[in-house]
Amino acid sequence: MQTENELLVFASSMTGAFEGAMQNLFSPGERIIVATNGAFGQRWVEMGQAFGLDVLEVASPWGSDLDCDRVAAAVNADPAITAAICVHCETSTGVVNNVQEFAAAAGADVLTMIDSASGLGACELRTDAWGLDVVIGGGQKALMIPPGLAFASISPRAWQRHCDAKLPRYYFDWDHALDALKSDIPRTPWTPAISLLVQLDAALRMLLAEGLEAAWHRHIVLGRVARAGIQGIGLDLLTQPRDENSPVTTARVPLGIDADYLVRQLYERYSVQIVAGSGHLTDKIIRIGHCGYVDALDVIATIAALELTLDELGVLPRPGAGVAAAVAALAMARGSAAVPPVPASSLA
Ligand SMILES: *Cc1c(COP(=O)(O)O)cnc(C)c1O
Repeated sequence: MQTENELLVFASSMTGAFEGAMQNLFSPGERIIVATNGAFGQRWVEMGQAFGLDVLEVASPWGSDLDCDRVAAAVNADPAITAAICVHCETSTGVVNNVQEFAAAAGADVLTMIDSASGLGACELRTDAWGLDVVIGGGQKALMIPPGLAFASISPRAWQRHCDAKLPRYYFDWDHALDALKSDIPRTPWTPAISLLVQLDAALRMLLAEGLEAAWHRHIVLGRVARAGIQGIGLDLLTQPRDENSPVTTARVPLGIDADYLVRQLYERYSVQIVAGSGHLTDKIIRIGHCGYVDALDVIATIAALELTLDELGVLPRPGAGVAAAVAALAMARGSAAVPPVPASSLA
């Protein structure tokens, strides 16, 4: 997380650690902002409301960027706002939000809380340099381990807020967690997920051997390869084709094709797992996850499986164009060949 802040580990999914952070930071009725542009942002709105917080949602369309200007305006207009929350990589759409710009927009007096579930380990994340007070991450996305571990990094001023926060808490109480961590033999207050911690240790060694910045770059290349493949096939991307959107690539499914059917075919026929959308995008998009233990060949194989399936459905105008574009993008990224990308065309 690139931080000197306290870092606590919880035996839970990331939603659990996020819930714990809300309990540890806020009091009933407290006014907070959640900037949203997808399903996970929406989840934090609902969670805040479930805990009786006064949540101001600053919503942007799914697939587009957060509206940081509106966040800044809302904070300036209302001094009662104490915290601002957003998602780093919005996994439901593939958009990676500029959390540095978000933190700047929230201003110096507002606590920032970031969901970096699928960002941590995949995307550039500089907790201290960007002034992110609380960052929540977990093990099962780019950190490559099975689900069940989540992390919270907590700045000194977030810790001060925590001392005054009045929401009830117990399992996720940061005081219990810190006391246990600072004991003679560092431990967790309750039974830890030992097998996962052993796996995390191995995964972090792999990540550090690769180099964190090299891993960030690998994900950028995977994003380029995936987008080139999608556009080569002739599908439309949901998001801007930019390097930042590196953990997940999303594409609109062709008219008349059912996203769920496509996803099931890829899995049943080619053992390739992708997913459909969520919320109102459920049957409109497919999402290809390429964060964590993934290399370019995995992405190229996914593009090939997608082409074969679309061909069987009779909606692939130029078989092989997706794979060709993906391989060309990889060659270009490696600097080993000056292969021009295949021009994008649209499926009717
Ligand atoms: C996966 C994910 C989560 C959390 O999930 P859990 O299932 O609770 O671990 C939260 N936010 C984002 C952006 C995610 O991608």
